[in-house]
Amino acid sequence: MKLDKTFQPSPTYALQLDAQDRLASFREAFIITDPNLIYLDGNSLGRMPRVAAEKAKQIVDEQWGRDLIRGWNKGWWDAPARVGDKIGQIIGAAKGQAIVCDTVSVNLYKLVMAALAYQPEKKRIVTDTMNFPSDLYILQGCVEQLGSRHEIIRIGSNDHELTPDLDALESAITEDTALVTLSHVLVKSGYLYDMKRITEMAHEKGALVLWDLSHSVGALPIALDDCNVDLAIGCTYKYLNGGPGAPAFLYVNKNIQEKISSPIWGWWGQNNPFAFGLDYEPAPGAARFLVGTQPMISLLTMEAALEPTLQAGIDSLRAKSILMTDYASFLTENWLAPFGFSLGSPLDSAKRGSHISIRHPEGYRINRALIEEMNVIPDFREPDNIRLGFAPLYTSFMEVWEGFDRIKRVMEEKKYEKYPKQRLAVT
Ligand SMILES: *Cc1c(COP(=O)(O)O)cnc(C)c1O
Repeated sequence: MKLDKTFQPSPTYALQLDAQDRLASFREAFIITDPNLIYLDGNSLGRMPRVAAEKAKQIVDEQWGRDLIRGWNKGWWDAPARVGDKIGQIIGAAKGQAIVCDTVSVNLYKLVMAALAYQPEKKRIVTDTMNFPSDLYILQGCVEQLGSRHEIIRIGSNDHELTPDLDALESAITEDTALVTLSHVLVKSGYLYDMKRITEMAHEKGALVLWDLSHSVGALPIALDDCNVDLAIGCTYKYLNGGPGAPAFLYVNKNIQEKISSPIWGWWGQNNPFAFGLDYEPAPGAARFLVGTQPMISLLTMEAALEPTLQAGIDSLRAKSILMTDYASFLTENWLAPFGFSLGSPLDSAKRGSHISIRHPEGYRINRALIEEMNVIPDFREPDNIRLGFAPLYTSFMEVWEGFDRIKRVMEEKKYEKYPKQRLAVT
Protein backbone atom coordinates (compact mmCIF):
# COMPACT_ATOMS: atom_id res chain seq x y z
CA MET A 1 0.00 0.00 0.00
CA LYS A 2 1.19 3.51 -0.79
CA LEU A 3 0.59 6.72 1.07
CA ASP A 4 -2.14 8.86 -0.45
CA LYS A 5 -0.50 12.28 -0.62
CA THR A 6 -3.66 14.08 -1.58
CA PHE A 7 -5.28 13.61 1.80
CA GLN A 8 -5.96 16.61 4.00
CA PRO A 9 -4.17 16.17 7.30
CA SER A 10 -7.15 14.99 9.30
CA PRO A 11 -7.75 12.03 11.59
CA THR A 12 -10.07 10.48 9.01
CA TYR A 13 -7.20 9.30 6.87
CA ALA A 14 -5.38 7.81 9.88
CA LEU A 15 -8.53 5.93 10.84
CA GLN A 16 -8.80 4.64 7.31
CA LEU A 17 -5.22 3.38 7.41
CA ASP A 18 -5.89 1.66 10.74
CA ALA A 19 -8.97 0.00 9.32
CA GLN A 20 -6.89 -1.49 6.50
CA ASP A 21 -4.00 -2.51 8.75
CA ARG A 22 -3.69 -6.28 8.85
CA LEU A 23 -1.35 -6.09 11.85
CA ALA A 24 -3.73 -3.92 13.90
CA SER A 25 -4.76 -6.76 16.18
CA PHE A 26 -1.17 -7.24 17.41
CA ARG A 27 -1.65 -4.17 19.57
CA GLU A 28 -3.77 -6.40 21.80
CA ALA A 29 -0.72 -8.55 22.41
CA PHE A 30 0.90 -5.73 24.41
CA ILE A 31 0.27 -4.28 27.85
CA ILE A 32 -1.01 -0.76 27.30
CA THR A 33 -1.80 0.89 30.63
CA ASP A 34 -2.48 4.41 29.34
CA PRO A 35 -4.36 4.51 26.03
CA ASN A 36 -3.80 8.25 25.84
CA LEU A 37 0.00 7.91 25.86
CA ILE A 38 1.57 8.34 22.43
CA TYR A 39 4.62 6.12 22.76
CA LEU A 40 7.11 6.78 19.98
CA ASP A 41 10.18 5.31 21.61
CA GLY A 42 9.86 1.64 20.77
CA ASN A 43 13.24 1.97 19.08
CA SER A 44 14.80 2.57 22.51
CA LEU A 45 12.66 0.34 24.68
CA GLY A 46 9.86 -1.72 23.18
CA ARG A 47 6.51 -2.08 24.90
CA MET A 48 5.88 -5.15 27.05
CA PRO A 49 4.23 -8.11 25.31
CA ARG A 50 1.57 -9.82 27.42
CA VAL A 51 3.15 -13.17 26.76
CA ALA A 52 6.45 -11.91 28.19
CA ALA A 53 4.78 -10.62 31.34
CA GLU A 54 3.10 -13.99 31.87
CA LYS A 55 6.28 -15.87 31.13
CA ALA A 56 8.32 -13.75 33.56
CA LYS A 57 5.92 -14.65 36.33
CA GLN A 58 6.04 -18.31 35.44
CA ILE A 59 9.85 -18.31 35.31
CA VAL A 60 10.07 -16.77 38.76
CA ASP A 61 7.35 -18.89 40.38
CA GLU A 62 7.94 -22.23 38.75
CA GLN A 63 11.40 -22.37 37.26
CA TRP A 64 13.47 -20.41 39.73
CA GLY A 65 11.16 -20.98 42.70
CA ARG A 66 10.48 -24.66 42.25
CA ASP A 67 13.02 -26.15 39.86
CA LEU A 68 16.03 -24.39 41.34
CA ILE A 69 19.28 -25.85 39.98
CA ARG A 70 17.34 -28.45 37.97
CA GLY A 71 16.38 -25.60 35.64
CA TRP A 72 19.74 -25.84 33.92
CA ASN A 73 18.77 -29.19 32.43
CA LYS A 74 15.24 -28.01 31.63
CA GLY A 75 16.04 -25.44 29.03
CA TRP A 76 18.32 -22.95 30.74
CA TRP A 77 21.73 -24.22 29.67
CA ASP A 78 20.88 -24.37 25.98
CA ALA A 79 18.87 -21.11 25.99
CA PRO A 80 21.60 -18.94 24.41
CA ALA A 81 21.74 -21.18 21.33
CA ARG A 82 18.00 -21.93 21.19
CA VAL A 83 16.95 -18.29 21.44
CA GLY A 84 19.80 -17.36 19.09
CA ASP A 85 18.26 -19.64 16.46
CA LYS A 86 14.87 -17.98 16.92
CA ILE A 87 16.45 -14.59 16.35
CA GLY A 88 18.23 -16.21 13.41
CA GLN A 89 14.81 -16.50 11.72
CA ILE A 90 14.44 -12.72 12.01
CA ILE A 91 17.93 -11.87 10.74
CA GLY A 92 18.29 -14.40 7.95
CA ALA A 93 20.72 -16.68 9.74
CA ALA A 94 20.61 -20.46 9.45
CA LYS A 95 20.89 -22.38 12.70
CA GLY A 96 24.05 -22.44 14.75
CA GLN A 97 25.30 -18.97 13.93
CA ALA A 98 23.46 -16.63 16.31
CA ILE A 99 23.66 -16.86 20.08
CA VAL A 100 22.17 -14.73 22.83
CA CYS A 101 24.50 -13.38 25.52
CA ASP A 102 25.81 -10.32 27.32
CA THR A 103 25.16 -6.80 26.01
CA VAL A 104 25.55 -5.25 22.58
CA SER A 105 28.64 -3.37 23.75
CA VAL A 106 30.31 -6.46 25.23
CA ASN A 107 29.51 -8.53 22.15
CA LEU A 108 30.97 -5.84 19.96
CA TYR A 109 34.16 -5.94 22.03
CA LYS A 110 34.46 -9.71 21.67
CA LEU A 111 33.88 -9.72 17.93
CA VAL A 112 36.11 -6.73 17.20
CA MET A 113 39.00 -8.26 19.12
CA ALA A 114 38.44 -11.55 17.29
CA ALA A 115 38.31 -9.82 13.90
CA LEU A 116 41.48 -7.83 14.53
CA ALA A 117 43.36 -10.92 15.68
CA TYR A 118 42.25 -12.76 12.53
CA GLN A 119 44.31 -10.54 10.22
CA PRO A 120 46.87 -8.99 12.57
CA GLU A 121 48.94 -7.52 9.74
CA LYS A 122 46.04 -5.27 8.67
CA LYS A 123 45.88 -1.99 10.53
CA ARG A 124 42.76 -0.20 9.46
CA ILE A 125 39.26 -0.18 11.00
CA VAL A 126 36.57 1.66 9.03
CA THR A 127 33.37 3.04 10.60
CA ASP A 128 31.41 6.30 10.51
CA THR A 129 30.89 9.36 12.72
CA MET A 130 27.16 8.65 12.92
CA ASN A 131 27.62 5.30 14.63
CA PHE A 132 26.30 4.80 18.16
CA PRO A 133 28.92 6.35 20.47
CA SER A 134 29.33 3.18 22.53
CA ASP A 135 30.41 1.40 19.34
CA LEU A 136 33.07 4.03 18.71
CA TYR A 137 34.29 3.89 22.32
CA ILE A 138 34.60 0.11 22.18
CA LEU A 139 36.68 0.41 19.01
CA GLN A 140 38.96 2.98 20.64
CA GLY A 141 39.40 0.73 23.67
CA CYS A 142 40.26 -2.27 21.48
CA VAL A 143 42.86 -0.25 19.60
CA GLU A 144 44.46 0.95 22.82
CA GLN A 145 44.58 -2.54 24.26
CA LEU A 146 46.27 -3.81 21.14
CA GLY A 147 49.08 -1.28 21.51
CA SER A 148 47.64 1.51 19.32
CA ARG A 149 48.90 -0.11 16.14
CA HIS A 150 45.51 0.23 14.44
CA GLU A 151 43.98 3.28 12.87
CA ILE A 152 40.25 4.04 13.03
CA ILE A 153 38.84 5.82 9.97
CA ARG A 154 35.48 7.49 10.59
CA ILE A 155 33.51 8.43 7.51
CA GLY A 156 31.45 11.60 7.75
CA SER A 157 28.41 12.94 5.98
CA ASN A 158 27.82 15.61 3.36
CA ASP A 159 24.29 16.45 4.43
CA HIS A 160 24.31 17.26 8.16
CA GLU A 161 24.59 13.70 9.42
CA LEU A 162 21.69 12.40 7.42
CA THR A 163 23.49 10.12 4.97
CA PRO A 164 27.02 8.74 5.18
CA ASP A 165 29.42 9.71 2.41
CA LEU A 166 29.45 6.42 0.51
CA ASP A 167 32.24 7.44 -1.86
CA ALA A 168 34.44 8.26 1.11
CA LEU A 169 33.51 4.91 2.59
CA GLU A 170 34.50 3.07 -0.53
CA SER A 171 37.87 4.77 -0.77
CA ALA A 172 38.57 4.31 2.95
CA ILE A 173 38.31 0.53 2.59
CA THR A 174 41.81 -0.41 1.47
CA GLU A 175 43.77 -3.66 1.32
CA ASP A 176 45.06 -2.70 4.76
CA THR A 177 41.57 -2.81 6.26
CA ALA A 178 40.96 -5.52 8.85
CA LEU A 179 37.39 -4.59 9.71
CA VAL A 180 34.48 -2.50 8.48
CA THR A 181 31.92 -1.99 11.23
CA LEU A 182 28.75 0.05 10.91
CA SER A 183 25.29 0.36 12.36
CA HIS A 184 22.84 -1.05 9.84
CA VAL A 185 20.36 1.73 10.63
CA LEU A 186 21.91 4.95 11.94
CA VAL A 187 20.69 5.88 15.40
CA LYS A 188 19.94 9.53 14.65
CA SER A 189 18.82 9.87 11.06
CA GLY A 190 17.47 6.35 10.60
CA TYR A 191 19.52 5.96 7.38
CA LEU A 192 19.59 2.31 6.28
CA TYR A 193 22.84 1.03 4.80
CA ASP A 194 22.77 -1.30 1.82
CA MET A 195 24.12 -4.32 3.66
CA LYS A 196 24.81 -6.42 0.59
CA ARG A 197 26.68 -3.75 -1.28
CA ILE A 198 28.85 -2.57 1.62
CA THR A 199 29.65 -6.15 2.61
CA GLU A 200 30.77 -6.92 -0.95
CA MET A 201 32.79 -3.72 -1.04
CA ALA A 202 34.66 -4.76 2.12
CA HIS A 203 35.17 -8.35 0.97
CA GLU A 204 36.72 -7.17 -2.28
CA LYS A 205 39.52 -5.69 -0.20
CA GLY A 206 39.73 -8.69 2.12
CA ALA A 207 38.21 -6.98 5.15
CA LEU A 208 35.75 -8.58 7.54
CA VAL A 209 32.39 -6.88 8.10
CA LEU A 210 30.55 -6.47 11.39
CA TRP A 211 27.04 -5.01 11.39
CA ASP A 212 25.33 -3.60 14.46
CA LEU A 213 21.66 -4.47 13.95
CA SER A 214 20.34 -2.78 17.09
CA HIS A 215 18.14 -0.32 15.22
CA SER A 216 17.04 -2.62 12.42
CA VAL A 217 16.32 -6.01 13.97
CA GLY A 218 12.59 -6.61 14.30
CA ALA A 219 11.72 -3.66 12.06
CA LEU A 220 12.93 -4.76 8.64
CA PRO A 221 14.11 -7.86 6.79
CA ILE A 222 17.77 -8.72 7.32
CA ALA A 223 19.57 -11.39 5.29
CA LEU A 224 22.90 -12.01 7.00
CA ASP A 225 23.58 -15.36 5.30
CA ASP A 226 22.53 -14.13 1.85
CA CYS A 227 24.66 -11.02 2.20
CA ASN A 228 27.58 -13.18 3.27
CA VAL A 229 28.07 -11.09 6.40
CA ASP A 230 30.91 -12.21 8.66
CA LEU A 231 29.85 -10.86 12.03
CA ALA A 232 26.88 -9.08 13.56
CA ILE A 233 25.52 -7.97 16.91
CA GLY A 234 22.15 -6.62 17.96
CA CYS A 235 19.84 -5.57 20.68
CA THR A 236 16.70 -7.29 21.95
CA TYR A 237 15.07 -4.59 24.06
CA LYS A 238 14.25 -2.24 21.16
CA TYR A 239 12.02 -3.49 18.33
CA LEU A 240 12.17 -7.04 19.71
CA ASN A 241 10.50 -5.90 22.97
CA GLY A 242 12.65 -8.15 25.18
CA GLY A 243 12.58 -5.86 28.24
CA PRO A 244 15.04 -3.40 29.78
CA GLY A 245 18.57 -4.79 29.67
CA ALA A 246 17.51 -8.07 28.05
CA PRO A 247 20.61 -9.88 26.75
CA ALA A 248 21.85 -9.08 23.27
CA PHE A 249 22.82 -11.44 20.45
CA LEU A 250 25.80 -12.00 18.25
CA TYR A 251 26.19 -13.73 14.89
CA VAL A 252 29.27 -15.44 13.54
CA ASN A 253 29.07 -16.80 9.98
CA LYS A 254 29.75 -20.53 9.91
CA ASN A 255 32.52 -19.97 7.35
CA ILE A 256 34.58 -18.14 9.89
CA GLN A 257 33.51 -19.71 13.17
CA GLU A 258 36.45 -22.08 13.47
CA LYS A 259 38.96 -19.45 12.39
CA ILE A 260 38.41 -16.84 15.06
CA SER A 261 38.64 -16.90 18.79
CA SER A 262 37.05 -14.99 21.65
CA PRO A 263 39.21 -12.56 23.62
CA ILE A 264 37.47 -13.74 26.80
CA TRP A 265 37.88 -17.45 27.46
CA GLY A 266 35.11 -18.36 29.89
CA TRP A 267 33.68 -21.73 30.80
CA TRP A 268 30.48 -21.25 28.79
CA GLY A 269 32.61 -20.99 25.68
CA GLN A 270 34.58 -24.13 26.54
CA ASN A 271 34.19 -27.28 24.49
CA ASN A 272 33.15 -29.49 27.38
CA PRO A 273 32.51 -27.25 30.38
CA PHE A 274 31.34 -29.97 32.73
CA ALA A 275 34.54 -31.91 32.36
CA PHE A 276 36.03 -28.99 34.31
CA GLY A 277 39.34 -29.51 32.55
CA LEU A 278 42.11 -27.14 33.46
CA ASP A 279 42.90 -25.94 29.97
CA TYR A 280 40.65 -23.98 27.65
CA GLU A 281 39.54 -25.48 24.39
CA PRO A 282 36.99 -23.45 22.41
CA ALA A 283 33.50 -24.83 21.88
CA PRO A 284 32.61 -25.48 18.24
CA GLY A 285 30.65 -22.81 16.44
CA ALA A 286 29.40 -19.47 17.69
CA ALA A 287 29.16 -20.82 21.26
CA ARG A 288 32.84 -20.07 21.78
CA PHE A 289 31.79 -16.44 22.19
CA LEU A 290 29.83 -17.23 25.33
CA VAL A 291 31.65 -16.28 28.51
CA GLY A 292 29.83 -17.05 31.75
CA THR A 293 26.42 -17.64 33.29
CA GLN A 294 23.66 -15.75 31.53
CA PRO A 295 20.74 -13.83 33.13
CA MET A 296 18.11 -16.52 32.74
CA ILE A 297 15.04 -14.62 33.92
CA SER A 298 15.72 -11.87 31.47
CA LEU A 299 16.80 -14.18 28.66
CA LEU A 300 13.77 -16.47 28.88
CA THR A 301 11.40 -13.51 29.21
CA MET A 302 12.91 -12.10 26.04
CA GLU A 303 12.43 -15.46 24.32
CA ALA A 304 8.68 -15.21 24.96
CA ALA A 305 8.69 -11.58 23.84
CA LEU A 306 9.83 -12.65 20.36
CA GLU A 307 6.52 -14.38 19.70
CA PRO A 308 4.52 -11.43 18.33
CA THR A 309 7.36 -10.56 15.95
CA LEU A 310 7.68 -14.14 14.72
CA GLN A 311 3.91 -14.40 14.24
CA ALA A 312 3.49 -11.11 12.41
CA GLY A 313 6.36 -11.85 10.03
CA ILE A 314 9.08 -9.40 9.20
CA ASP A 315 7.85 -8.55 5.68
CA SER A 316 4.45 -7.44 6.95
CA LEU A 317 6.12 -5.44 9.71
CA ARG A 318 8.34 -3.71 7.17
CA ALA A 319 5.41 -2.84 4.90
CA LYS A 320 3.54 -1.20 7.77
CA SER A 321 6.67 0.52 9.05
CA ILE A 322 7.29 2.09 5.63
CA LEU A 323 3.76 3.41 5.47
CA MET A 324 4.12 4.86 8.97
CA THR A 325 7.44 6.58 8.35
CA ASP A 326 6.14 7.87 5.00
CA TYR A 327 3.11 9.27 6.79
CA ALA A 328 5.27 10.82 9.52
CA SER A 329 7.66 12.34 6.95
CA PHE A 330 4.70 13.78 5.08
CA LEU A 331 3.28 15.33 8.24
CA THR A 332 6.70 16.75 9.12
CA GLU A 333 7.05 18.46 5.77
CA ASN A 334 3.46 19.66 5.52
CA TRP A 335 2.54 20.41 9.11
CA LEU A 336 5.69 21.05 11.06
CA ALA A 337 7.95 22.77 8.52
CA PRO A 338 6.16 26.13 9.03
CA PHE A 339 7.23 25.98 12.70
CA GLY A 340 10.90 25.63 11.79
CA PHE A 341 11.20 21.84 11.74
CA SER A 342 13.14 19.96 9.11
CA LEU A 343 13.18 16.26 8.36
CA GLY A 344 16.40 14.69 9.63
CA SER A 345 15.88 11.38 7.84
CA PRO A 346 15.97 10.12 4.25
CA LEU A 347 12.76 10.73 2.32
CA ASP A 348 13.22 7.53 0.35
CA SER A 349 11.81 4.69 2.45
CA ALA A 350 14.24 2.20 0.90
CA LYS A 351 17.01 4.10 2.67
CA ARG A 352 15.32 4.41 6.03
CA GLY A 353 14.66 2.26 9.09
CA SER A 354 11.59 2.54 11.31
CA HIS A 355 12.32 5.83 13.05
CA ILE A 356 12.65 9.36 11.80
CA SER A 357 14.29 12.44 13.26
CA ILE A 358 12.64 15.80 13.16
CA ARG A 359 15.11 18.60 13.72
CA HIS A 360 14.52 21.93 15.38
CA PRO A 361 16.90 24.39 17.11
CA GLU A 362 14.64 24.16 20.19
CA GLY A 363 14.40 20.38 19.89
CA TYR A 364 15.48 19.70 23.44
CA ARG A 365 12.86 21.93 25.04
CA ILE A 366 10.14 20.80 22.65
CA ASN A 367 10.91 17.21 23.54
CA ARG A 368 10.57 18.01 27.25
CA ALA A 369 7.24 19.74 26.73
CA LEU A 370 5.99 16.71 24.78
CA ILE A 371 6.94 14.33 27.57
CA GLU A 372 5.90 16.44 30.54
CA GLU A 373 2.72 18.07 29.27
CA MET A 374 1.48 16.29 26.21
CA ASN A 375 1.82 12.62 27.13
CA VAL A 376 3.95 11.97 24.05
CA ILE A 377 7.22 10.05 24.43
CA PRO A 378 9.80 10.49 21.72
CA ASP A 379 13.48 10.93 22.64
CA PHE A 380 16.05 13.60 22.03
CA ARG A 381 19.49 13.23 20.48
CA GLU A 382 21.98 16.08 20.32
CA PRO A 383 22.16 18.63 18.92
CA ASP A 384 18.63 19.12 17.57
CA ASN A 385 17.04 15.73 16.82
CA ILE A 386 13.71 14.62 18.20
CA ARG A 387 13.51 10.94 17.31
CA LEU A 388 10.14 9.39 16.61
CA GLY A 389 10.16 5.60 16.55
CA PHE A 390 7.33 3.67 14.90
CA ALA A 391 7.06 0.11 16.15
CA PRO A 392 4.74 -1.50 13.61
CA LEU A 393 3.56 -4.23 16.00
CA TYR A 394 1.70 -1.91 18.31
CA THR A 395 1.72 1.66 16.98
CA SER A 396 -1.45 2.75 15.21
CA PHE A 397 -1.75 5.31 12.43
CA MET A 398 -4.11 7.26 14.66
CA GLU A 399 -1.29 7.55 17.20
CA VAL A 400 1.01 8.92 14.54
CA TRP A 401 -1.55 11.53 13.62
CA GLU A 402 -2.29 12.37 17.25
CA GLY A 403 1.44 12.60 18.05
CA PHE A 404 1.95 15.17 15.30
CA ASP A 405 -1.14 17.06 16.35
CA ARG A 406 0.29 17.38 19.86
CA ILE A 407 3.67 18.52 18.53
CA LYS A 408 1.82 21.17 16.55
CA ARG A 409 0.03 22.32 19.70
CA VAL A 410 3.34 22.64 21.56
CA MET A 411 4.54 24.93 18.79
CA GLU A 412 1.35 26.97 18.42
CA GLU A 413 1.17 27.62 22.15
CA LYS A 414 4.97 27.87 22.56
CA LYS A 415 4.73 25.44 25.43
CA TYR A 416 8.45 24.65 25.28
CA GLU A 417 9.52 28.14 26.30
CA LYS A 418 9.17 27.54 30.00
CA TYR A 419 11.71 24.69 30.04
CA PRO A 420 15.41 25.33 30.68
CA LYS A 421 17.93 24.52 27.98
CA GLN A 422 19.93 22.62 30.60
CA ARG A 423 19.85 18.88 29.75
CA LEU A 424 18.54 16.21 32.13
CA ALA A 425 20.78 13.16 32.68
CA VAL A 426 18.77 10.89 30.36
CA THR A 427 17.34 12.50 27.26
C1 LIG B 1 20.93 0.52 21.52
C2 LIG B 1 22.22 0.37 20.86
C3 LIG B 1 23.30 -0.20 21.55
C4 LIG B 1 23.13 -0.58 23.00
O1 LIG B 1 24.23 -1.14 23.59
P1 LIG B 1 24.10 -1.76 25.04
O2 LIG B 1 25.37 -2.45 25.24
O3 LIG B 1 22.90 -2.64 25.06
O4 LIG B 1 23.91 -0.64 26.01
C5 LIG B 1 24.50 -0.37 20.86
N1 LIG B 1 24.61 0.00 19.56
C6 LIG B 1 23.58 0.55 18.89
C7 LIG B 1 23.73 0.92 17.44
C8 LIG B 1 22.37 0.76 19.51
O5 LIG B 1 21.35 1.30 18.86
